[in-house]
Amino acid sequence: NPVEWPTQDLVTHRADATPDRMAMIAADSGNAVTYRKLDTAVDSVAADLDRRREASDATVATLLPTRPAVGTLLFAAMRLGATLAPLNVELDAATLRTQLSTVEADLLVCGDNTAELAAETAPCPVVSVDRDLSGAVATDRAPADVSADVTPAALSHDDTQLVIFTSGTTSDPKGVRLTVRNLVASAVASSYRLGVLPDDRWLVCLPTYHMGGLAPFVRSALYGTGVVVQRSFDADATQDVISNRSVTGVSLVPTMLSRLIEAGWEPPTSLRFVLLGGGPASEDLIERCRERGIPVCPTYGMTETASQIATARPETAFEHAGTVGQPLVCTDVTVVADGDPCDPGERGEIVVDGPTVTPGYLNSDGEAFGDYGFRTGDIGYRDGDGRLWIEGRVDDQIVTGGENVDASTVAATIRDHPAVDDAAVVGLSDDEWGQRVAALVVGDVTPETVREHCDDRLAAYEVPKTVRVVDGLPRTASGTVDREAVRSLLSEAGDSSR
Ligand code: ATP
Ligand code: MG
Repeated sequence: NPVEWPTQDLVTHRADATPDRMAMIAADSGNAVTYRKLDTAVDSVAADLDRRREASDATVATLLPTRPAVGTLLFAAMRLGATLAPLNVELDAATLRTQLSTVEADLLVCGDNTAELAAETAPCPVVSVDRDLSGAVATDRAPADVSADVTPAALSHDDTQLVIFTSGTTSDPKGVRLTVRNLVASAVASSYRLGVLPDDRWLVCLPTYHMGGLAPFVRSALYGTGVVVQRSFDADATQDVISNRSVTGVSLVPTMLSRLIEAGWEPPTSLRFVLLGGGPASEDLIERCRERGIPVCPTYGMTETASQIATARPETAFEHAGTVGQPLVCTDVTVVADGDPCDPGERGEIVVDGPTVTPGYLNSDGEAFGDYGFRTGDIGYRDGDGRLWIEGRVDDQIVTGGENVDASTVAATIRDHPAVDDAAVVGLSDDEWGQRVAALVVGDVTPETVREHCDDRLAAYEVPKTVRVVDGLPRTASGTVDREAVRSLLSEAGDSSR
């Protein structure tokens, strides 16, 4: 029989090419791991998982906060040919049970902090990073020597390497399948836009059960650069980590960046980029970055495309505030309206095609694929130079008296009122207007003050006709706003609060 040489996993290659380069640093303990050491830890974890799993193509779910061990587990799963499904540690027990059954978990990996929740929910064996997987712990804090020998599985590009659940903003979280090909393509495309320098260190302080927190591990292994891992974001502590651990890039969501700026952050000159995504960034936030010399890279992405779709470099972001820039290399973006591609400046649904796009969901009624690729459910347009501008979600578009209103823009405007804590905006069906703009508001305000505030800042047709002030917004199990409940609370309000 001819000898077959399997394609090996990323860390095997990396440990061969640059064994002494730093792979991961835990921000709190300062424990640093080279690629050689990571390779040994991955072997040890892979051997431990291998002993406990039943099928060779097992699915290993995790219930872990952001820590280096998550990266070690991802690479151990890759070495074994197993699928990793990192689950959200903030979920309630019922939703966790549903997700564990959706991914058909054979094994659940928890830590000391999540052991109780894991025991309560898992339909499968549970192992603890802190008690059972010495290799994973070695990458977090203790420089213990571990060794084991596993035969790496052949890396199969089209196998599902990861299952990540979407945030559940528009419906229940969907389990997105991501292949090795998706992950590597995303890492390559990202580096084309941001560049790679040998001493790059990417700070991960986002949750590693979302793509934004996990992607830097793959990018770094591919390029032989390092990841600094901080358990959670904190405006003061994160500033210190960026300065003291020589961080050159960081991924943040807009609220984190606002908090850093409010805390008076002045980034060190060694910081090359702040990848800013996950939701809309206001022009005001971009302007504040310009004033402070923060190298912001506004980004549009989603779970279904293994993270970035389009990213603006700082010079583009400052010159054209509000854009998310050109689509990444090999990422085809078509704006589609009424089934046809749009002209520049014309708005429509954003459709994405290319090697980063998921092969599909594990649990979803309809697959969102159409003529031009994956239908994102987001509305936007491309300008004459091809830059992409995001206007909101299809579901957020309210047509009132023939005018288009983006609910999230109105909600953001209401939230700008100093006495408002939170707001949700939806369209209610209306005999006269087709739909009318309605807002549920949390804060020390009256419907009248909310409307006055909007009168000064929005077009007349965008000002909510119905406003109801409540103690809290109704939320789904995963913590996102439950829009159906918002709609029914506002429908009950009827005309009284108009
Ligand atoms: P679900 O798919 O379950 O409703 P979700 O879409 O919020 O949840 P994610 O994949 O985490 O789950 O988020 C991707 C979405 O975030 C995008 O489809 C888009 O609506 C929004 N988004 C991401 N980046 C931006 C951005 N720069 N500007 C505006 N919206 C953005
Ligand atoms: Mg989505």
